[in-house]
Amino acid sequence: MESCRRSFLKIAGISVLGLGARPVLDVMAASGSEQGKPLAMKNEQALQAKRWALVIDTRKLASEEDLQPMIAVCHKIHNVPKLENKQHEIKWIWTEEFKHAFSEQEHEFVDDRIKHLPFLTLCNHCEKPSCVRACPTKATYKGEGGIVLMDFHRCIGCRFCMAACPYGSRSFNFRDPRPFIKETNLKFPTRMKGVVEKCNFCNERLAVGKPPACVEVSKGALIFGDLEDPESLVRKLLKSNFSIRRKPALGAGPSVFYIV
Ligand code: SF4
Ligand code: SF4
Repeated sequence: MESCRRSFLKIAGISVLGLGARPVLDVMAASGSEQGKPLAMKNEQALQAKRWALVIDTRKLASEEDLQPMIAVCHKIHNVPKLENKQHEIKWIWTEEFKHAFSEQEHEFVDDRIKHLPFLTLCNHCEKPSCVRACPTKATYKGEGGIVLMDFHRCIGCRFCMAACPYGSRSFNFRDPRPFIKETNLKFPTRMKGVVEKCNFCNERLAVGKPPACVEVSKGALIFGDLEDPESLVRKLLKSNFSIRRKPALGAGPSVFYIV
């Protein structure tokens, strides 16, 4: 596990921080656990970046089966409930067919195979997040490294953020989600009825020196690192491969890139 962590640090172009990691912990403490306790208790191994980015190498992810481990681990560690009613569904990371994920790239001559290929979709941790602008209580805010976070305690359930997000990255708890969590992870807060939630780029794991869980189980298909560091692997991959982002014309500046 330690060698896995070391190799992540090396390829991500980021450093293990000492006292400088404090801002990450502040973010964690602000979002709070259910009892209001900080989620991360030690700061000596926290990771920081100027702007976190996720690169998804879709060439390594050919089928739904390839994508399921990332979804399963994310939803398990973040206490995401499994609700059968599609209208009440809660999702942090999910799959969309190409034609839906990249509708602006669709045209009549796109190969049928590509049209129906599944792509991983999640919050894009936008550089200019419209959800943050729309939230009247500052329950959603931009934290360290550009990560767009939720303070569940401040959310009043108005859903302005959901209306403002052009990617459908947010879910609303129409009912108490707790009975629908298979196995509760006591280290992460559960949510309540009337609260919005979404992917947090595994901020709680970064605070203790670990990469996002989806990256860890992706067998190299997902790469996470600092977009502002020209030496990071994400920057090198983006330089040497053709990549796309979702709805770039909107100008939100998504931090999730897809190598195609
Ligand atoms: S994808 Fe949506 S929820 Fe995520 S930061 Fe951008 S606007 Fe906000
Ligand atoms: S970065 Fe973390 S929270 Fe976001 S989709 Fe991956 S596992 Fe889930």
